[in-house]
Amino acid sequence: MIRRNLTLLGATGTIGMNTLDVVAMYPELFRVVALTGQNQVERLATQCRQFKPRYAVVLDESRAQELRHLLADTETEVLCGEHALEEVASLPEVDTVMAAIVGAAGLKPALAAARAGKRILLANKETLVMAGRFFMQAVRRGGATLLPIDSEHNAVFQCMPDAYSGDLAAHGVHRILLTASGGPFRTRPVETLAAVTPAEAVAHPNWVMGRKISVDSATMMNKGLEVIEAHWLFNARADQIEVVIHPQSIVHSMVEYLDGSVLAQMSNPDMRTPIAHALAYPDRIAAGVPRLDLPRIGQLTFEAPDTRRFPCLALAYQALAAEGGAPTVLNAANEVAVEAFLGHRIPYPAIAETLSHCLERLAGRTAGELADLVAIDQEARLVAEAYIARR
Ligand code: NDP
Ligand code: MG
Repeated sequence: MIRRNLTLLGATGTIGMNTLDVVAMYPELFRVVALTGQNQVERLATQCRQFKPRYAVVLDESRAQELRHLLADTETEVLCGEHALEEVASLPEVDTVMAAIVGAAGLKPALAAARAGKRILLANKETLVMAGRFFMQAVRRGGATLLPIDSEHNAVFQCMPDAYSGDLAAHGVHRILLTASGGPFRTRPVETLAAVTPAEAVAHPNWVMGRKISVDSATMMNKGLEVIEAHWLFNARADQIEVVIHPQSIVHSMVEYLDGSVLAQMSNPDMRTPIAHALAYPDRIAAGVPRLDLPRIGQLTFEAPDTRRFPCLALAYQALAAEGGAPTVLNAANEVAVEAFLGHRIPYPAIAETLSHCLERLAGRTAGELADLVAIDQEARLVAEAYIARR
């Protein structure tokens, strides 16, 4: 296997830490060149001591000072600001970039990696939801390679034919089946959802994840974002992407071919599996994940999603069908609404209501260039904040 030089954007998050777990198993294969974080400066300092990157990046100057102090006796240079994130994502000595910042903040550094022709391990799905067309264009023009980390898309990637060209029909693919666990509220009586607390919403039954994506999983907005993500990654139309609830989270997604064959990727629900897959691709390495014990699991079950329980999923299909700026509006409004819910400023059902309001208010926004999308993103945040403030 080729030795790889890595930049890890969002090293201090859940995906970042899982990535470093795998990287630590193979010091001869992976060299860490840069690590980035935002608030968790001490964790970042500990990671720098272990992996000895050339650069560490945080967003603001006061955190940079703190980090410089913590790393004073090391070789790691501390950089600061948004621009520094783009810089470490496109360094000539780096060949692989893990994009694991959460939210729209991950877009610019991921774009920088695409333009610089890197091998991009993409966890930050918001990049594709917010600016799928532009990001995919940057990947093509920059000669970058895109490997999905999101477990569903990584599963689809593994079940697709080799050298998939972006044309489902040409490869005999009928459709993509994205699995969803259904989250913590799959069986909770719908009339009690108004009383859901942030603590209940972030307690996912199968996965340990950051707070934002955990709430997204509870509302199934996460699956909605993933439908849009799959649309861009595999050039699939909305009617070629179906969501199936699978509470055990063992089948991570499937590809159905014209002849009726359905290929599935299975593993324990542990992000180190897709991370190790993408880190080593096209080779395979051990991920430190326990082997799948099917007799112990016993049953794999599947059901159709109930859009009354999960209105956010329907809103995502609606945004994808509307095209233009609608997915950008959806993503921005969702970030604002989730933050407000986590801060006890709105009840759980108001997340979907905020999204619905913003999509309606900002319907028909189009984007000729990336700057338009950034403006739509900002406008949607203001509209969402105003809606939340007066409800
Ligand atoms: P976390 O919240 O755990 O981590 C987010 C990371 O981004 C942290 O390193 C954080 O720094 C950093 N960060 C947060 N805000 C900013 C900002 N404005 N600018 C720069 N850096 C920032 O999230 P996850 O690891 O769970 O998720 C990361 C991405 O991966 C998300 O897009 C998510 O949707 C996707 N994903 C996650 C999965 C999972 O299992 N966790 C599965 C599939 C996809 P700090 O913590 O130091 O503040
Ligand atoms: Mg996922």
